[in-house]
Amino acid sequence: MSNEQQNLFDIEPEAWEFDDAAEQRVADVVLATGPEGVFSYLVPESLLDAIEPGRRVEAPLGKGNRKVVGYCVDVATRKVGGRTLKPLRAVLDARRLLSPAMLRLSRWISEYYLCRWGQVIEAVIPAGVRSQAGTREATLLSVSPQVGAIHRLDLPEKQAHVLKTLAGSRKPLTAAQLARLAQCTTAPINALRKKGLIQSQRERVRNFTLEEARTAKEDQLQLNDDQQAALDALLAAIRRGEHETILIHGVTGSGKTEVYMQAISEVVSYGRQAIVLVPEISLTPQTRERFRRRFDRVAVLHSHLTDSERAWHWEQIAQGNVSVVVGARSAIFAPTPNLGLIILDEEHEASFKQGEAPRYHAREVALRRAETEEIPLVLGSATPSLESWHRASEGVYRLVEMPRRVMNLPLPDVATVDMRADIDNRGPRGAISRQLLAAMKVALDDDGQIILLLNRRGFSTHIQCPQCGEVVSCPHCDIALTHHRHQEIALCHYCEYQILAPNTCPECGASGIRYYGSGTQKLEAEVRARFPHVACLRMDTDSMNRPGSHEKALDAFRSGEIKILLGTQMIAKGLDFPNVTLVGVINSDTALHLPDFRASERTFHLVTQVAGRTGRGAKGGRVLVQTLEPDHDAIQAAVRHDYVRFANYELPIRREHGYPPFADMVRIVIRGPKQNETRGFAEHLAALLKTACATLDANAKVRGPAPAAIPKLRGNYRFHIQAQSLRGERLREAAREISVGLKTPEDVQWIVDVDPLDML
Ligand code: ADP
Ligand code: ZN
Repeated sequence: MSNEQQNLFDIEPEAWEFDDAAEQRVADVVLATGPEGVFSYLVPESLLDAIEPGRRVEAPLGKGNRKVVGYCVDVATRKVGGRTLKPLRAVLDARRLLSPAMLRLSRWISEYYLCRWGQVIEAVIPAGVRSQAGTREATLLSVSPQVGAIHRLDLPEKQAHVLKTLAGSRKPLTAAQLARLAQCTTAPINALRKKGLIQSQRERVRNFTLEEARTAKEDQLQLNDDQQAALDALLAAIRRGEHETILIHGVTGSGKTEVYMQAISEVVSYGRQAIVLVPEISLTPQTRERFRRRFDRVAVLHSHLTDSERAWHWEQIAQGNVSVVVGARSAIFAPTPNLGLIILDEEHEASFKQGEAPRYHAREVALRRAETEEIPLVLGSATPSLESWHRASEGVYRLVEMPRRVMNLPLPDVATVDMRADIDNRGPRGAISRQLLAAMKVALDDDGQIILLLNRRGFSTHIQCPQCGEVVSCPHCDIALTHHRHQEIALCHYCEYQILAPNTCPECGASGIRYYGSGTQKLEAEVRARFPHVACLRMDTDSMNRPGSHEKALDAFRSGEIKILLGTQMIAKGLDFPNVTLVGVINSDTALHLPDFRASERTFHLVTQVAGRTGRGAKGGRVLVQTLEPDHDAIQAAVRHDYVRFANYELPIRREHGYPPFADMVRIVIRGPKQNETRGFAEHLAALLKTACATLDANAKVRGPAPAAIPKLRGNYRFHIQAQSLRGERLREAAREISVGLKTPEDVQWIVDVDPLDML
C-alpha cells in the first residue's frame, strides 16, 4: 500500500515556465492514481464550455508529459503569477460525476483519514459510474428541421411511412428501433438519411432500465408513546432546518424502524431525500420490502448489484428521481440533490468502517455531511458505540431513549450457564450444556424455533500433537489451522492455505494427533445427532457463499420449515422472527480476551444483539448464555439488558488508559516479508512519529513498534505503532508529517489507520 503512500503528501509542482502574469482560466486537478497533490492546468479555449468541477480530465504530467486522468476539483480565473501552465488535453465526462458539496466532503475525508484525495474520489464514485457501465454510444435519428409537411414530399411509400413513424416518436430513435417500429429494413432509413431528411447525432444511451415490481403500499403504524416521543424529537430537528445529531438508544424490538420511516415521510413530503444506512448483513429482502411498502421511489444499494445496475441507481438518485436511498456504508455518498435526513441504524456496527484506504467510518462521514448540509443525523442502536454514547452524555448529541419493546412485549429472560462447573454439566464432550439441551427440548415441544450462536467457523478449531505440543499452523500466517470436515482439510482462515487434515504430527511424526475446540460444523453435527428428526440449518460464510443463499436460508427459517438455525454472528443481527423462543450462545467469551481494547464492548454487543432475536412474539423467549466467566461485567450487563451498566463499567477503564472515546487514536501497521527489515523500518517510523509529536502534540502517547496480534499474515511479518492523543488534529498532523520525503524499503508496506477499529 504504502510505497505509494511514501510520497503521500508531496506536492510535485508541474513544470512551470515564466510568462507575464495575465489572468487565465485555470483548472485544479487531482489525480486518480500517481502523485499526490493538486495540479493546476490552463483551460484551452476549446474546453471552456466543458470544464466543470467534478468532471474528469486528461492532462499531461511530468517531464515526459505523460497522459494522466484526473478529477477537476476547481475552476477559476486567476493570475498565474509568472508561470505558464500546461493546457488540459480533454474533458472526459459530459456531466459532472460529483457535486461541489461531495467534492468538499471527499476532500475532508482525505484530510481526516490521511489518504490521497484522488483515491477518496475514486471510492466515492462507483466503478460502474466511472466506466459508464450499462451505456453505449448510439446514433440517434430524428426528422431534420427543414422537413415540413411529410405528405407534400415526393417519396416512395416505404420512405414516407418511415419518416411519419419517426416524426410520431417523442424521442430520437436508433436505426434498429425505427426499423422495428416502421416494420421495414434499414434501406429506406439510409435513403432518407442520404436525402438529408433524417438527421443523426451521437449520444450515450442506457442499455436497460430497471423496472422494479410494484409493491402494495402499507399504512403507517399507530405509534406507542416512546415511539411518538422519539418521532417528535426527530420532527422538531427536521423542522428547525438545522443540523442536529440524535442518538436513539432503543432496545431490540422497540420499533425504531417505524420511527425512522415516519420521519422520512415528513422529509419526503418536502420533496427532499433521505439516506438510510444499515449494515450490509441487514440489507435483506425483508428490510428492502419494508421500505418499498412504505415509499414510492426507493433505491436499495446492496453489494450484489452489477456495475450497470449501480450506475443506473446513481443516475436516478442524482436526477432526484429517488426519495429514499437504503444501503450499506458507501451509500453515504449517494448523490441526492436535496438531502433532508440521514439515518444510520445499528450505528455501533464495525462494518461501517472501511477496511482499506480510504479507511473512513460512515458514521463520521455522515456527521460531516449532515453538518455541512444542515440536516439532522439520526443514529440508532440497542447497544450504541461508546463513542456515540459519550458524545451524547457530553451534550454533543441529543439522546432519545426507547427502553421498552413494542406491544408491551417483555425483553427475554436471559440466564448464564457456568461452563466451569463440573464437567458433567456439559454432557459428554459436546458444546451444548445440559441446561441448554433441556431448554431446546422444551422450545421444540412448544413448537418454537431456536437460534444457536457460535462465533467460529469450521469443525475443530485447532489441531495439536499430544506428544510434542505442536499446533498445526499456517506457514504464511502464524495462526492455527481450522479443521473443516466436509473436505477433510485443515484451513487457514486468513489466507485459505490448506492441507489434508493430518493423522500424524507433521512436526514429530507421532500418531494420534488430536482435534480440539468446536466450530459451527461440529455444533451442527452435535445438533443433528441430538435431534435427528428436527430440521436444522447452519449459517456461516462457508455455507452461505452463493449469492442468494442467505435470503433462502432466512426464508426457510421464517416459514418454519427450519426449526434450529445455528451459525456465526451472521445470525445475531437484525432478524425479526416472532416464533423464536430460545437463543443459545454457545461460547460467549471467545472474543472477551482478544488483544483489543474493544473486546468487552464487542462481546457485550454480540450477546445483547443475539438475545434480542427472541421474545418477539406472544410465546415470549429465553436466552441461555454459556460462559466460563459468568461474573464478567460485559456478560452480566448483557444478561440484564443493561447498557448503562456496561457503559459505566467500561468507560472508566477507557478513561484511565486514554483510549477512545476519551482520546483519538492513530494506528500504523507495517508489514514485509523480512522480519528484521520490517521491524527496523517500524522502529524508524515510530521514532519519526515521536519526534513529530514532540513539537506538534507533546501529550500524545506513542507506543511501539510491537508485533501485531497477528504477527504474520500471508507471508508478511506485521508490526504496529499505536498513538493516542487528546488533540486528534495535532496527532493526525504529526502522522501526516512523517510521510513527507520518507523512503520506504522496497518490499515493506505501511498503512495509517485513523480511528482504527481493527486492532489485530
Ligand atoms: P427495532 O428496529 O427497534 O428492533 P422494529 O422497528 O424492527 O424494532 O420493530 C419490531 C417489530 O414491531 C416489527 O415487526 C414492527 O413491525 C413492529 N412494530 C413497530 N412499531 C409498532 C407499533 N407501533 N405497533 C405495532 N407493531 C409495531
Ligand atoms: Zn494463512
